[in-house]
Amino acid sequence: MEFNDPALFPIHEKVTSGERLDFEDGMTLYHTNDLLGVARMANLVREQKFSRDTYFVRNQHLNYTNVCVNRCVFCAFSRDMGEEKAYTFDLSKAEQEIRTRLHEPIREIHMVGGLHPSLPFSYYLDLVRMVKELRPEATVKAFTAVEIDYFSRLTGLSLEEVIKELQGAGLGMMPGGGAEVLSERIHRKLYPRKIGPDRWLQVIRVVHGLGVPTNATMLYGHIETLEERVNHLLKLRTLQDDTGGFTAFIPLAFHPENTRLSHLKPTGGIDDLKTVAVARLLLDNIPHIKAYWVMITPSLAQVALSFGADDLDGTIVEEKITHMAGARTPTGMSMEEISHLIRSAGYHPVERDAFYNPI
Ligand code: SF4
Repeated sequence: MEFNDPALFPIHEKVTSGERLDFEDGMTLYHTNDLLGVARMANLVREQKFSRDTYFVRNQHLNYTNVCVNRCVFCAFSRDMGEEKAYTFDLSKAEQEIRTRLHEPIREIHMVGGLHPSLPFSYYLDLVRMVKELRPEATVKAFTAVEIDYFSRLTGLSLEEVIKELQGAGLGMMPGGGAEVLSERIHRKLYPRKIGPDRWLQVIRVVHGLGVPTNATMLYGHIETLEERVNHLLKLRTLQDDTGGFTAFIPLAFHPENTRLSHLKPTGGIDDLKTVAVARLLLDNIPHIKAYWVMITPSLAQVALSFGADDLDGTIVEEKITHMAGARTPTGMSMEEISHLIRSAGYHPVERDAFYNPI
């Protein structure tokens, strides 16, 4: 393999011999201008694992409330109770949302929301039960480590008890949000009321230990340094060595509009693509790397398939969180649109369930 940057040769050696990359390698990958060199290495690993297969899922997002006690600095979605545009679905409204798409063969219901000050834990259990009853064939993928910690504090139950109750109601999997960037510095500055890096890792360890798989994410493109990004990825990799519970990693490009960080510039295409590739190369033990088209646009997500991504997330309908932060992307895509996006990039679309079993 040819590289414009000689610093990539030793990394290529490691990649081809299956040797694990380290912190310095991660920094070299981020600092190099040889974007296509990085892409070729990431694509090599992607094709070894998945050939030209590219996964997607027919899914539905349900953001049941945007009322949140945390009010993180980077969040455009959350509101205080009673504030303009604050909303909370009661169970019948949530049911109505699920029923509107019962005619579609949806395999995954993705549910996250704010930390509501007064909804009881029974609301969340009823929500999961309702969805599972209406959609027995779909996986309920709901709540992040942040909510699990909140439910535990709300009820006085241990983390284990909370998770077991949710599992009993029908929870099958959890998304990967809430870690943002696993750094105490960023925690203090951007999300001081939310759980910090150590607690996030601790909660996920318990979740995985009880057999609930999760995804992992990284919210990048705000005040974090490249060192903090690489450290974040390595912390995820270390936990994955112990638990094996992460299914996919999803880089989340920060959208500053409508947040208290609106003076920041949004991420650019080079950074978005490089972050996908660095994740593919550093996270040798997390199988799937997702290009989340809602955040980086469908066109760039398509290009990311050649930078190590093997998953385009899903059809999604009514995505709210990123769109309240000014995303101009569609709020959903049809099955035909997503398949076309994959095929026209030279890849093979594979419809999957929440656990990556082909359908
Ligand atoms: S990011 Fe999550 S926890 Fe933070 S304010 Fe928004 S909804 Fe609440």
